[in-house]
Amino acid sequence: MVLELRGVGKRFPGGVTALDSVSLRVERGELLAIVGPSGSGKSTLLNIIGTLDLPSAGPAEVDGHDVRELSDRALSALRGSRIGFVFQQFHLSDGLTAVENVAEGLRYTGVRRGARTRLAEAALERVGLGHRGGHRPHELSGGERQRVAIARAVVNRPALVLADEPTGALDTATGRSVLELLFELNRQGTTIAVITHDRDIAAALPRRVELRDGRVVADSGVGR
Ligand code: ADP
Ligand code: MG
Repeated sequence: MVLELRGVGKRFPGGVTALDSVSLRVERGELLAIVGPSGSGKSTLLNIIGTLDLPSAGPAEVDGHDVRELSDRALSALRGSRIGFVFQQFHLSDGLTAVENVAEGLRYTGVRRGARTRLAEAALERVGLGHRGGHRPHELSGGERQRVAIARAVVNRPALVLADEPTGALDTATGRSVLELLFELNRQGTTIAVITHDRDIAAALPRRVELRDGRVVADSGVGR
């Protein structure tokens, strides 16, 4: 079990209920979409699963740990070592090469510098960018930048990759190839949740969890 939410709620100060009794189990090896319109609670859910924010109700177990019982320090360690993040706008560092950006994914792991570089190079190979390791983000296309970001997310072999609108900044064809890469990494064993408002993207994935007004309104079931 990678993730288990049981009746998770999130209320913000001011009284907004962003999540209302959300239950969700994700097994190792799944590839799923968390899909819903703007304002349905996707980002709030992503923040809780990613241990960036805490639920105001309900247990949330991430990689076997109830996030409500962990110190800030332990939450950071869990996040840094067990979760990989992919963002719509890539969030790469402009001053770093592709290899250096990917190596950032190993920052909190205690892996030594030389080994970090070798692992980063291997992760770039996995995403088809072995020949671009010395390039900086501005020398890469949008699709290549997202592949670098994906390599950074998987370099540490996380329990779960959270991809927030990973194709949102890309044209349709490039977006499709990035999605295909996520499929390939999933076939190799990576557990991936794609957060999206795009129903076509969701429809392409083996499992869809639909959010509306902070509730799960449909779940197609375990997807592998
Ligand atoms: P989505 O990502 O699906 O667009 P969000 O999770 O961002 O949805 O938001 C869900 C609801 O919670 C919305 O009504 C939003 O206005 C509200 N919300 C999100 N973050 C906050 C916050 N920090 N404070 C107050 N309300 C928030
Ligand atoms: Mg959002």
